[in-house]
Amino acid sequence: MSAKVFDSHAHMDSDYFDADREEVFAKLRQEIAGMINPGCDNETSFKAITYAETYDFVYAAVGWHPEEVLRMQDDDLKKLEEWSKHPKVVAIGEIGLDYYYDDCAPRDLQKKRFIEQLDLARRVDLPVIIHDRDAHGDMLDIFHNEGKGLRGVFHCYSGSVETAKELLKMGFYLGFGGSSTFKNAEKVRSVLKYVPEDRILFETDSPYLTPVPYRGKRNNPAYTLLVAKNAALVRNTDVENLIEKSTENVKKLFSKIS
Ligand SMILES: [Zn+2]
Repeated sequence: MSAKVFDSHAHMDSDYFDADREEVFAKLRQEIAGMINPGCDNETSFKAITYAETYDFVYAAVGWHPEEVLRMQDDDLKKLEEWSKHPKVVAIGEIGLDYYYDDCAPRDLQKKRFIEQLDLARRVDLPVIIHDRDAHGDMLDIFHNEGKGLRGVFHCYSGSVETAKELLKMGFYLGFGGSSTFKNAEKVRSVLKYVPEDRILFETDSPYLTPVPYRGKRNNPAYTLLVAKNAALVRNTDVENLIEKSTENVKKLFSKIS
């Protein structure tokens, strides 16, 4: 195998990597073409930038995750805007809506902070990395009303083929990770089968959602290869070609990555 995978979504700032982060990064340098570490608040966005400054194959995204926005202050938007000018900050994310947890931030606040960060992305001309958990309806409404001039990826896509069609029409990319390898993930695989080759991104969402056969263990950006191999099986296509294509897609969407 000569083509190397690009992990478009991994949280190397997680405590799960505290014991051996540097070793993991050193190995990854050989194993993958590159990776994007999205932030979920100020602290993790800053860490992502630190990794991107330390490792040439690592890129950062900055943003406030919907589960964290209760702590977000108006000043934090200015911070994100400053960071967005950094040469290795390639996107605003991860941002979005999460209606799965009841104890998450109230939906109105989630929407407000999400729309503010979408406006920021438009202003600084960066793509967005979207988290959408059980919020597909509101998500589509927001993009129909406020999505003009935005580009981005729905990471770890979990919606229907119908919703995917709408998003593809709006120009979005779809990210597929470990969950697309799970036994009960027929719905995700039906989307994976449907989505055009020039809109597919691969990811791990490390340290979570570890692909089969390592499900339950710590995830690692190198496992993007397992996700890509599974996708090639599902799509009945050549894995090398699919990996090359998906890395091209990463560079097209995140245009600050050369
Ligand atoms: Zn994530």
